[in-house]
Amino acid sequence: TPAISLEQISKAYRSGGEDVQAVRGIDLRIEQGEFFSLLGPSGCGKTTTMRMVAGFESPTSGTVRLHGDDVTGVAPHRRDVNMVFQSYALFPHMTVFDNVAFGLRRKREASGEIRRKVAEALELVELNGRERTKPGRLSGGQQQRVALARALVNRPSALLLDEPLGALDLKLRQAMQMELKRIQRDVGITFVYVTHDQGEALTMSDRIAVMNGGRVEQLGTPAEVYERPATRFTAGFIGTSNLLSGTVAGRSGEVATVRIEGAGEVRASCDAPAGARVDLTVRPEKIAMEAEEPAGDRARLAGTVTEVVYLGSATHYTVRLGDGSEVVVFRQNASDAASAAERGETVWVSWRPEHAY
Ligand code: ADP
Ligand code: MG
Repeated sequence: TPAISLEQISKAYRSGGEDVQAVRGIDLRIEQGEFFSLLGPSGCGKTTTMRMVAGFESPTSGTVRLHGDDVTGVAPHRRDVNMVFQSYALFPHMTVFDNVAFGLRRKREASGEIRRKVAEALELVELNGRERTKPGRLSGGQQQRVALARALVNRPSALLLDEPLGALDLKLRQAMQMELKRIQRDVGITFVYVTHDQGEALTMSDRIAVMNGGRVEQLGTPAEVYERPATRFTAGFIGTSNLLSGTVAGRSGEVATVRIEGAGEVRASCDAPAGARVDLTVRPEKIAMEAEEPAGDRARLAGTVTEVVYLGSATHYTVRLGDGSEVVVFRQNASDAASAAERGETVWVSWRPEHAY
């Protein structure tokens, strides 16, 4: 049985006499020990979904299960999950020790037991020695570790993290991403991680649910959602993607020939029937760019370089195609790199048909 399952969960808020559909029929199964992310833009329903798993919000319809048990009507403190928020919500007048021990004391655990569990939790987040410090004297990253220790101290079966690193600057955020992965591996509990940052979701997750407008647009491993975006939204939201519009002119097996009016015909991996209007996507690093028309069975189009951006280890080129659309090409600046293209130059962009969808 999955650690967490959501079955046809919907949530409508009543706001100013109107219904706001925050979540529209979500189905998810999250496995025990998985690092699972909900990724999507602000307002797509991530927090609402998490609050329904934690029990702070009840769904308008649908069922929430933890390890197979229906907990839809069960109070938050009776669910074996904890939630960590972006605002750490620590008690400022209490020491680190007291903050972490708070829940255990409320449950009237024995003091020896509390000391042992708090020490273990602080060790996990590498804050042992800071027991007597007040949160105000800690850095933002350390405060977030205290919040994490507090959420882990009673060993919940799942931890829900709602944009927990949002308040930290980039360097610290990246360090904490690695740290969270390590902690999750060490304790082996299920993490459900909410973020609007695609890079964060790609680096940390076992699987990602890409959300948009209260729905799950795509579910898969980081490589699956990055390399095979299922919708225009996913393609645009994750990474830099090239999107072209065309019509299926013919097909053989899994590969279709797509006519891009004004630009030419290219082959791509596609299951739409002949005549269908399709959006085609190719990741920038899958595209080759050269001065001569490539031989062989690569899909190819001619265009003009309109922009060159040097980034040190790589250069990004923008190429305008015959139909006026633009594609971005990434090239590593390796020591043996072929000659670079310049603005205004005519080039051929090409890719293997199985790298375009
Ligand atoms: P996210 O976490 O992805 O940014 P939320 O779950 O917070 O999204 O919000 C989803 C939608 O529900 C938004 O349109 C938001 O304005 C609305 N919403 C969230 N909470 C409430 C509430 N308590 N009352 C009314 N509308 C809400
Ligand atoms: Mg949110």
